[in-house]
Parts: sequence; structure tokens; C-alpha cells
Amino acid sequence: MTVRAQAAESGAMSLETQVVIVGGGPVGLALANDLGWRGLDCVLVERATGLPDFPTCESVNARTMEHFRRWGIAQAVRDAGFPPDVPRSVRFMTRILGHEILCFHRPSNREFQRELGELTPEAGIWCPRMMFEPVMRARLDEHACVRVLAGWEVTGFDDDDRAVTVRAVDTQSGKAVVIHADYLAACDGAASDTRKRLGIPMQGTFAEGHNVTVYFESPALREALADKPGVMMDIVNADGRANLSAVDGADRWRLIQHVGADEPLDPERRVRLHLGRDLPFTVIGARAWAGHRVVAERMRAGRVFLVGDAAHLLWPRGGFGMNTGIGDAVDLGWKLQATLARWGGPGLLDSYEEERRPVAQRNVDEAASNRAEDAAVPVSPRLEDDSPEGQAERDAVARVIREKRAKEWNSLGIQLGYRYDPSRICVPDGTKAPPDSPTDYVPGTWPGSRAPHAWLAPGRSLLDGYGDGFVLVSTGPARPGAAALVQAAQARGLPLRIEAVDDPAIARLYQRPLVLVRPDGHVAWRGDSAPADAAELVDRIRGAWPDAATPGAASQRQEAGAA
Ligand SMILES: Cc1cc2nc3c(=O)[nH]c(=O)nc-3n(C[C@H](O)[C@H](O)[C@H](O)COP(=O)(O)OP(=O)(O)OC[C@H]3O[C@@H](n4cnc5c(N)ncnc54)[C@H](O)[C@@H]3O)c2cc1C
Repeated sequence: MTVRAQAAESGAMSLETQVVIVGGGPVGLALANDLGWRGLDCVLVERATGLPDFPTCESVNARTMEHFRRWGIAQAVRDAGFPPDVPRSVRFMTRILGHEILCFHRPSNREFQRELGELTPEAGIWCPRMMFEPVMRARLDEHACVRVLAGWEVTGFDDDDRAVTVRAVDTQSGKAVVIHADYLAACDGAASDTRKRLGIPMQGTFAEGHNVTVYFESPALREALADKPGVMMDIVNADGRANLSAVDGADRWRLIQHVGADEPLDPERRVRLHLGRDLPFTVIGARAWAGHRVVAERMRAGRVFLVGDAAHLLWPRGGFGMNTGIGDAVDLGWKLQATLARWGGPGLLDSYEEERRPVAQRNVDEAASNRAEDAAVPVSPRLEDDSPEGQAERDAVARVIREKRAKEWNSLGIQLGYRYDPSRICVPDGTKAPPDSPTDYVPGTWPGSRAPHAWLAPGRSLLDGYGDGFVLVSTGPARPGAAALVQAAQARGLPLRIEAVDDPAIARLYQRPLVLVRPDGHVAWRGDSAPADAAELVDRIRGAWPDAATPGAASQRQEAGAA
């Protein structure tokens, strides 16, 4: 542990570190894992002492699992408790135990891993936060450079352009600490005090809809649903819309009901209403919450960065919120490392907001679209009738659901297909941008994209070599000039190595014989031959190019021609 503690003149304990992370939810934990993996000195301050005891964040997507893989926790998360063979089917029902309108049959965690093996080494999984957060936390104990202050609350900070000074208090004893750091990452969630102190507004629509979540236990429901395996039910009836999710794949469930503003929690009544039959159950907890679609106007102010829910709030329709936040953390992690190691240029940290804000907006919009399609599913009083007319109503609703609702559970484009455009540190090659689809992911190396996965050997992905510095993937015969690029990188202190891959299938997948991959696994540059000016390319990808302050969308500057 490299954090130094000493008594300050005021009597408050004093710590010095490189990065202070405010908030230890999934996004703060992700950033601490990334910085720890990179060997950066950081202090994570989290108000709560215990682990989460209310279920959210069960859709852990493929990209997040790829990050977990790099941090060495993917398998532990798979083993964290959610049964691997429960099908992740989604059923539309009139009541939980009522008529089935339609079922999207979907594979289990284990089957998804097999089925998506061509596209990713780590398919997304169903695993609630209360199961995977302990794994993320435990991993931090293995990084001597990461210190966790649990049960401490950040009460204020100052940024004087040269450093940040963060004040925190122990919520039990009232003891104070002052933390001096190079940077502050605000992962303090939807109500982010950091964002408020900076005066950064959210843009978009707040409180589009109100909801009550009820967390309950019912072994009887497990038995009653034995012939309807799955992880989710969307409930469609004239009493109101609701959604049931599996929490532990056995006896625990989460019911979300859409309600009017200021309605009482009334958890027992809500569960009974949507069960459709009398069954014993025990309520564990209930919460009211509102759905938003907002993105912070800015994600950086001086030495302070907004990350995760502090920067964007999405409807939980598609499971994008936390995954988007973890994407922020990974984008920021290597840029902090590069800047602190002094090979990052003056524009590198500015590229964080530039790259992540459009991705956040894209995901916020797609989640809102899923929510709007859900709200548009027609409901009639006859939907529950045990009659040919009732069945005809259900068939009609099923047709709408099949056409409009399937995309929520087919989001590989959101998970793997996002790309950084515009970005001052990705170099456009003049080719046309590939289609941007929330549902479909087509592997490719268009600059700014996630570099595609391929198996190099059983269990060893090409992605496993990314993370620590830049990698020049060379798929053809050795190209003259590649060594000059390495030398130019060395001259600037930028870590870069060549990965020569002798595999025609990977050569086709990577589309160009030379593809330069960033430490976060995104493509910075690609070409048929080494760049004429290696030093200029190196300066550009490290945020030190003279024009780095004036990025333009590569897609706006594209020329005709397929990627
Ligand atoms: C019903 C529901 C289901 C969802 N399902 C999914 C899903 O399947 N997949 C998905 O990707 N997303 C999902 N989400 C969204 C997801 O919950 C959020 O996007 C995610 O929790 C954001 O993580 P975070 O770490 O940014 O913020 P939070 O989880 O809110 O964590 C912030 C942390 O900061 C701490 N904190 C705040 N202020 C201070 C302070 N001053 N000092 C110290 N600590 C502080 C808090 O105690 C908290 O632990 C869902 C949301 C809901 C409501």
C-alpha cells in the first residue's frame, strides 16, 4: 500500500494518493479494479459499510464481462451464485400465474458463453449486484495500491488546478480525513454531490415514470413456476404494468410495478395483485424510484471526472446503466495512468468526455426507446378472459410484442458495437462508418471500435493481450516501418508492442494488416502500411497532437468506400 497517512495540523488524518474515487457502487469498484490492475495508487471512499442488500444490475453485459476477465474476476463472478443453467427466457404474462402471451426463449448463462464464443470470450451473464459486488470488492484486497475507506463519507473537495483536496468523515466516529490527490473520480451515483458542487446540470427528462420495487421470497412461487423457467416476466393486464425478475434463480424475486407519483409502497398488495393466485410470500424490502433519461452537460471539470450514474441516468430497460458506467471507468482508467506516467499528452483526459458522453447519450436513448415500446403494448380488459375472444386478444398483443419488444434482449450492438467517434485520439482512415445498430454487432476495426475477439488457442483470446499499453496487431508479412512506430513510441515513453498473428481468419477479421489497439481495447489507428510519420501518429493517440483540441467526427469526414 503506497498511500501515506500522517496527522495534519488540524488534527485530521491526512492521506496522499494519485486518484480519489468517491463511491464504491459497481462503477467505483470497477474503476478501483482497473486502477489497481494498472498499479495506480488510489483511495476509494464509500459511505456504506456493508454490501448491497437490494437486487439491481443483474444484466452484466458482454463488454463488462470482458473487463472482468482482464481483472481476473470473470470466472469468480460466474460462480458467484446465480445458477448457470437457468434459461434466461423472458415471458410476457397476464399475471405471474396467469395466461402466457409470448415467451422469448433464451439460453442460460452457460449456454450463452458457448453460443457467443465467436464474438466474445465472455458472454454477458445474469447475476445480481449483491452477488458480483463482493467479488469486485475482494479483488481490491489483492492490490496493495488500492485502499478502501468503507463507512466514510466525502463532505467536500477543492480543486486548485494543481491537485484536489478531498474531505471525508467516518460516519460512525465522526473522525475526519483530508485526502490530497492528483485527480478525483466521482462515482457517487444518481444524487452525486460532486456533480452538484460543480454546478453541472443534467440534460434530458427527469422522472418520466414512477415505480415501486418489491423484493420478496416465495418457495411456493418457485414450485408454481417449475414449468416456466426464465429470469424475467413482463406482466400485462388492465390493473397496470409490472415486471418480475429472478434474483437468486430459486426463491427470491423482484417485482417492479409502474405507479403514479407519490403512491404508497404498499408492497404486499402489489405482489398479490400481480400473482394472479393466492400464494404465500414474504416481503424482504420495498423501494420507490423514478425513471430518468438524462446525461450530464459535462463529464469533466478540471481535475474532477463524473463517472457512471453521476453522469447519466437511464431507464433500466435493457440493463445498460451500470454497464455504461463501467465503460466510463475503463475509458478513464488508462488515461489517468498515461497522464500520471507523463506519456499522456495534454488532450488525453479531455478525450474522456468526448468519447463517453455520446455513448452515454446513445444508451440513454435506446433505454428510453425500450421503455416507450413497452408502454405502447396494448392492454384490454378482455386480455385475461378464458375464451376464444380472450385468446384472440392475447395473440394480437403477442404480435405487437414480437415485433416491438424483442430488441430489448438483443442488444449486442449496444454491448460491443459502440465506438468513439468523434475522438481526438482515434485516427479516421477515410472509410465510411459501419452501420450503428443497437441490436447487431458486426466485428470490425473501424477506428474507435472495440477491437474484435478471436481465439489464439483454446481459452486464450486475442483480447487477453490488450490492456497494458498499446498493441500493434500485425496480421500479414512483417511491414517495413512498424519498428519505426515502436521507436517513436519509445521516444515518447508510450508503451507499445507488436503482436504478430499468423492466421488468415484473423487477418480477414482485422481488415487491415496493421491495427493499433489502445490499452482499453479500442482501435486507435489502422493501415495497410506503417504511417509515413510515426511520431505524429504517436502524438495523436496520446493526446498530444497540435490539432488534438479540435476533433471532428470521423463519420462527418468520411469518404465513400466500405470499411
Ligand atoms: C430496478 C433497476 C434495475 C437495474 N438493472 C440494471 C442492470 O441489469 N444492468 C445495468 O447495467 N444497470 C442496471 N440498473 C442501473 C444501475 O443500478 C446503475 O446504473 C448503477 O447502480 C450505477 O452504479 P454507480 O456505481 O454509478 O452508482 P451507485 O450504484 O448509485 O453507487 C454510488 C455509491 O456512491 C456512494 N456515495 C454517494 N455519495 C457518497 C459520498 N459523499 N461519500 C461516499 N460515498 C458516497 C453510495 O453509497 C453508493 O454506494 C438498474 C437500475 C434499477 C433501478
